[in-house]
Amino acid sequence: MKKDRTKKDMTEQSKENRFMEKFNKFLNLIFPPDIKCIFCGRDINHFYERPFCDKCASHLPYNIGNRCHICDEPIGNEAIVCDRCQTTKHYFKRAYCPFTYDNMVRASLLSYKMEGKKYLALPFALLIEKYMHDSITNFDVIAYVPMTTISEKARSFNQSKLLAEELSKLTHLPVVHCLKKNFDTKQQKELNYKGRAENLKDAFSVVDKTSIKNKRVLLIDDIITTCATVDECSKAMSKYALSISVCAVARNKLHKSLIDNI
Ligand SMILES: [Zn+2]
Ligand SMILES: [Zn+2]
Repeated sequence: MKKDRTKKDMTEQSKENRFMEKFNKFLNLIFPPDIKCIFCGRDINHFYERPFCDKCASHLPYNIGNRCHICDEPIGNEAIVCDRCQTTKHYFKRAYCPFTYDNMVRASLLSYKMEGKKYLALPFALLIEKYMHDSITNFDVIAYVPMTTISEKARSFNQSKLLAEELSKLTHLPVVHCLKKNFDTKQQKELNYKGRAENLKDAFSVVDKTSIKNKRVLLIDDIITTCATVDECSKAMSKYALSISVCAVARNKLHKSLIDNI
């Protein structure tokens, strides 16, 4: 009797082992243990916790220290709101950017956008989600900065839309396709603050009011520099949405020569 039970126990145990083996294989398929650091390519085994290695972790341009409570730009003093936000009307409540647009983050954002490294959208979205912590629960939907059809075809993807889709998978907040870019605008990088805002005037419109009506919207872009793009998108949505906040992978600063040129 005792022998039978032992035999039965062993069969059960082996069934359990086989099940666990298959289950682990399945887990490894979904969460490969040898995913690489997104900045240097070293093998890491904590991708979903932190998608970069220890060495890169000590050199990354984290957006930390005192930052503007509205636009999330680093401030060199104890002020709550930066000089620009004190004099500029924004159509969004606040911004969230985990990094400044420097060194490794700048390089990987450029390769994401210019070299079509779409796989970076997931880790970037993960980094935004971690930076926002519980604030992410304050939103109902995710919107993204749109491109014109011609520009999107030329690049083959919209980098902000892809970030929105990955953030949606992580947060279960739905993506809304509520914005449209009406025409192609000049490259923002050569323009000063005033020029950037003028360049984008009326460039965006809402094409699906219902999707954001009385909703708390989180608008996503890849980089925020002067806030002109996210402001213009927020302005278009502000007639319908309950509130709008914005997020991006990196917070950039306008080059000094362009600031002086105001
Ligand atoms: Zn690394
Ligand atoms: Zn500010």
